[in-house]
Amino acid sequence: MNEYVQRVIHNTSEKHKDQPEFLQSVTEVLKTIEPVVKAHPEYEKAALLERLVEPERQILFRVVWNDDKGEVHVNTGYRIQFNGVLGPYKGGLRFHPSVNLSVLKFLGFEQTFKNSLTTLAIGGGKGGSDFDPHGKSDAEIMRFCQAFMTELYRHIGPNTDVPAGDIGVGGREIGYLFGQYRRIRDSFDNGVLTGKGLTFGGSLIRPEATGFGVLYYIQRVFEHEGLVLKGKTIAVSGYGNVAWGVCKKATELGAKVVTISGHNGYVYDPEGIDTKEKINFLLEMRASQNANVKMYADKFGCAFMEGKKPWEVKVDICIPCATQNEVDLSVAEIMVQNGTQYYFEGANMPATNEAIAYLQGNGVLVGPAKAANAGGVAVSALEMSQNSERLSWSCEEVDQKLREIMYNIVDVSYQASERYGLKRDLVSGANIAGFEKVAEAMMAQGLI
Ligand code: GLU
Repeated sequence: MNEYVQRVIHNTSEKHKDQPEFLQSVTEVLKTIEPVVKAHPEYEKAALLERLVEPERQILFRVVWNDDKGEVHVNTGYRIQFNGVLGPYKGGLRFHPSVNLSVLKFLGFEQTFKNSLTTLAIGGGKGGSDFDPHGKSDAEIMRFCQAFMTELYRHIGPNTDVPAGDIGVGGREIGYLFGQYRRIRDSFDNGVLTGKGLTFGGSLIRPEATGFGVLYYIQRVFEHEGLVLKGKTIAVSGYGNVAWGVCKKATELGAKVVTISGHNGYVYDPEGIDTKEKINFLLEMRASQNANVKMYADKFGCAFMEGKKPWEVKVDICIPCATQNEVDLSVAEIMVQNGTQYYFEGANMPATNEAIAYLQGNGVLVGPAKAANAGGVAVSALEMSQNSERLSWSCEEVDQKLREIMYNIVDVSYQASERYGLKRDLVSGANIAGFEKVAEAMMAQGLI
């Protein structure tokens, strides 16, 4: 491996021994962009990689809120403003007990390349809190969001940093966060957050965008590979916003999603999650205070496989849509054994580096998260455009732009991988294409 790349990976590992998720993503990205770094010796002189792995700003703060019984709770709030060379920091907020600095730094790092791939003017950021929304009442969620924004507002703005949702943060939370921002600032500020409700600046198709984007990505990959999507079976993990969008668009395109999952097991619906009633039920389930994926199995009379992961089902395509690192080497082995040939990531970093290497080594075509799930943030950037122009585009307009963006991501990934003699390596292709633009902008903007 290139000595400079190796040194930066080594130094980052030494410095951040306690941040495994962040190191995992840094290692994966730096290894795959090695040929670009080799071709640009000026990057080393400018300490480009050292700067690339160091967030521009990391904000940590205390969030204090009252539950319905009046008890006081304290959580940690975060915003990682990772890289702003391409535009205002952009990326979601995650509310989940597993949130820590390592998780948010990996998400912010990945977001930088993902946002670059969209071709829209957005930098990379991520934030959130270790707050657990599970089982909380609506009033508690609102108080938490207000407390969170009471600090965050001073760090964000339409030209500075534009947060959105992620795990645990959907339309309801964005509404409360935006309301509090507006109250404190006394300004609409071009909407400042994305994923807003349609009555106050939200974009059509934003809720569907990540899932739809995954399917558009697959559609284009299949065109490159000379394959047809119609009739293919799909295993999905998770049952949140991304899984919902995937079920909806897969059905429209004639493919069939047969699994969804939660932390306690998965649902196997061999008929397919392919009717309006079933797809809408995913939304209902997620919105309920004690959400549990088993509710789907009970309602539609299909099997709930307790404590199991959906990857044991034989399917053509696997799309993890839950959270990071659910696909480890043992899962990758099962996928290969089952004859799965296509693996596309709806969630961020759902697989370990080992698992990805195993899948690719066994001929599975891998569509990495930062490319395949870029549709969400892409439509967020379209929401920003609409807000700054004070107008709203039709469904068709947004959907068509989303499709074009996803198709382009696939095309540039294939091109980048071919340029460096890495045929069909869409992981390296996405990293290289995303990196090239960020690196060029960083060089142009000097030592900052
Ligand atoms: N959280 C989403 C992601 O992982 C969306 C971010 C956004 O819309 O800003 O890309």
